[in-house]
Amino acid sequence: MKIFITGGSGFIGSALVRHCINKTNFNVINIDKLTYAGNEESHKVAIGHPRFIHEKIDICNKIKVQKLFQKYKPDLVMHLAAESHVDRSIDSPNDFMKTNIMGTFNLLEASKDYLKNCDHSIKKDFRFHHISTDEVYGDLDKKDEYFTEKTSYDPSSPYSASKAASDHLVRAWNRTYGLPILITNCSNNYGPYHFPEKLIPHVILSALNGKTIPVYGDGSQVRDWLFVDDHVRALLEVATRGKVGETYNIGGNNEMKNIDVVNNICELLEELAPKMKSKAIKKYKDLIKYVDDRPGHDLRYAIDASKIKQELNWVPSESFETGLRKTVKWFLENKEWYERILNGEYKMKRMGKNI
Ligand code: NAD
Repeated sequence: MKIFITGGSGFIGSALVRHCINKTNFNVINIDKLTYAGNEESHKVAIGHPRFIHEKIDICNKIKVQKLFQKYKPDLVMHLAAESHVDRSIDSPNDFMKTNIMGTFNLLEASKDYLKNCDHSIKKDFRFHHISTDEVYGDLDKKDEYFTEKTSYDPSSPYSASKAASDHLVRAWNRTYGLPILITNCSNNYGPYHFPEKLIPHVILSALNGKTIPVYGDGSQVRDWLFVDDHVRALLEVATRGKVGETYNIGGNNEMKNIDVVNNICELLEELAPKMKSKAIKKYKDLIKYVDDRPGHDLRYAIDASKIKQELNWVPSESFETGLRKTVKWFLENKEWYERILNGEYKMKRMGKNI
């Protein structure tokens, strides 16, 4: 099987690439422009592998995207490339609209044109799998409410609005043109190779560097956390066995308040890295500082993942406790990876600058 993975150098995409190379016999073509969030070191295991090719291409470039379909003739597209950070979308929404909406549109059009002329053997099994977020549903307030696949869309941020728009496009290309699509909407992921600007790595690295740990508002926002490798397994189940045209919600059954996530990380660091603590503090928790809430901040996300469990027999294998321990340990053991990102060295090397 030949797969296009878009965004395979990002956090979730690189976990998918590593899984495909290490645990399947799929041929992977990674289509990734390498924005600030993309990092080839995250899928180092795949570089030079005979079943891996990286095409450094912007999915907003329609002609280049179309040429890729002719060149490789994929059986499956797993579309993860996106601008993904909510805070950045609030400060500067332009790239979110371009990549998340127009980039998805280009891929849909290229897939549709490709299928018109390709062999029946490819046409009958081809799938376009769009990877999306639970943030398209907006937020919940009551404890007993969950997002199901039937929940109406009500996005709050420019990021979630652009992802919602892309989901609608994907469904429309199925209804109007018969493109064989699948959509997954997943809760917050965490794990190794998570870009340092996101909550969990940000807290780990701030604590290790003796910097303030900022917590939005009173920290009572609830998120459902899923370990990234569990997400990857779910994605492959949906892509290979899911029913065409369907949406599957993916979640970890791990609802946590942001402040509890932060406290858990601090406690793990007390246990795993007591000597790395700054001398200016007694406990890692002393670094916590409450800051003004993010505008439009969603209060609670919670996923009902019973459909994927019933239809595809997928359940997460990590609890938040086991997954967070693995994540904190990974960051403690992979200082080089995050330091090169933090000091801009990786990006400069890629641009051919002297470092
Ligand atoms: P990420 O920001 O870590 O990675 C995105 C990747 O896309 C990067 O490698 C980047 O270089 C690439 N990219 C960005 N713009 C591009 C363009 N125009 N052309 C080609 N490549 C481009 O994102 P992530 O956290 O790995 O998320 C991957 C997908 O999963 C996204 O679509 C996101 O909406 C979705 N998702 C993420 C989460 C989460 O918690 N991280 C949860 C649910 C769904």
